[in-house]
Amino acid sequence: MQGAEHYKEAERLMTICNSCRYCEGLCPVFPAMELRNEFADGDLDYLANLCHSCGACYVDCQFSPPHEFEVNVPKTLAEVRADSYRSHAWPTALRPMFDRNGLAIATVAAASIATFILGFALWHDRNALFTKDGQFYRLMPHEAMAGLFGAVFLFAIVALVMGFRSFWQSIGASSVSAGSGTTLWQAIRDACALRYLDGGGIGCYNEDERPTDNRRLFHHFTFYGFMLCFASTSTATVYHYAFGWPAPYGWLSLPKLFGISGGIGLMIGPIGLLHAKLTRDRALMDPAKFGMDTAFLAMMLLAGLTGLLLMVLRETPAMSLMLAIHLGVVFSLFLTMPYGKFVHGIYRFGALMLYAAERKTEQPASVARPTALQAKEAV
Ligand code: SF4
Ligand code: SF4
Repeated sequence: MQGAEHYKEAERLMTICNSCRYCEGLCPVFPAMELRNEFADGDLDYLANLCHSCGACYVDCQFSPPHEFEVNVPKTLAEVRADSYRSHAWPTALRPMFDRNGLAIATVAAASIATFILGFALWHDRNALFTKDGQFYRLMPHEAMAGLFGAVFLFAIVALVMGFRSFWQSIGASSVSAGSGTTLWQAIRDACALRYLDGGGIGCYNEDERPTDNRRLFHHFTFYGFMLCFASTSTATVYHYAFGWPAPYGWLSLPKLFGISGGIGLMIGPIGLLHAKLTRDRALMDPAKFGMDTAFLAMMLLAGLTGLLLMVLRETPAMSLMLAIHLGVVFSLFLTMPYGKFVHGIYRFGALMLYAAERKTEQPASVARPTALQAKEAV
């Protein structure tokens, strides 16, 4: 099946589920569905991004295959979710990045690493390349590093904001004031606790019909690992510019403590999620997006691993090579953020905000339905 067929199938399933309602206590998808009588593309984007693919509704469903109704909500919503990433991406010219996402991200990563290695080799004398003094800025001046990474980070933020804006309009979130302070706070709490990734309280299905909390645990490691690494870079920037304290920092300094704990989180989380993905029941997954999912996890894992190796090897002749690899990985991670699985966190957060607003008003965000497709096409 392709884009439009995914939406058609999701509409068919939501219509069946809306008559059945057996799964209404499992997750927010079903209560949000019950507020609606019909399902435009924007509604399906919203429901798909509320779904965590926990698998509970597939295991519980009396109409799942081999029943002739062939109800498979997790797989169908995973397909719509992936389509929503592509159809809201900005700028439109870069939407094809989602088509062979694993290959695209691997190519950008390899090219970035090669460019940093080549750059270090061409612009430095042999002594600087094999220095053991741990001074990064002898290989790449701080201003150049901050300028390059600041520019790519800014581009990623603009692209993510534009994509989110299109998604927000598509799901009709402004029609129920989903951007208010209380819904924002509720969505932050739900997202930080991964509140709904538990199959209605019993855990998440993966390789068999015994649910566990493993996927939630490894999502936590990945998310908080990423946030700690971000905190490490941010505190180092404040140290440098506000206090005039340049790197390197001691092992007990805040940038180092954040960086070490974040790097460990970015190794444990993605390894656990990769294992879960490789062993997962294929019936629950969108096989076409296997490359996108694994590329995202591989990039997170590489960012954590190369960051930790750089710390350990900092005062050895391997430092310059490790620095080039780490910078290449982080640069490509930023550059490809708006065109890969990273966006799922942003869109899910938007869907949680709308869900919090709808729960409060018991009103669906239906006003924007006629403009949902227009919003997609306009961007
Ligand atoms: S997934 Fe199956 S059991 Fe659950 S609401 Fe839909 S049709 Fe009913
Ligand atoms: S897979 Fe889980 S999160 Fe998704 S709709 Fe089914 S029960 Fe809800």
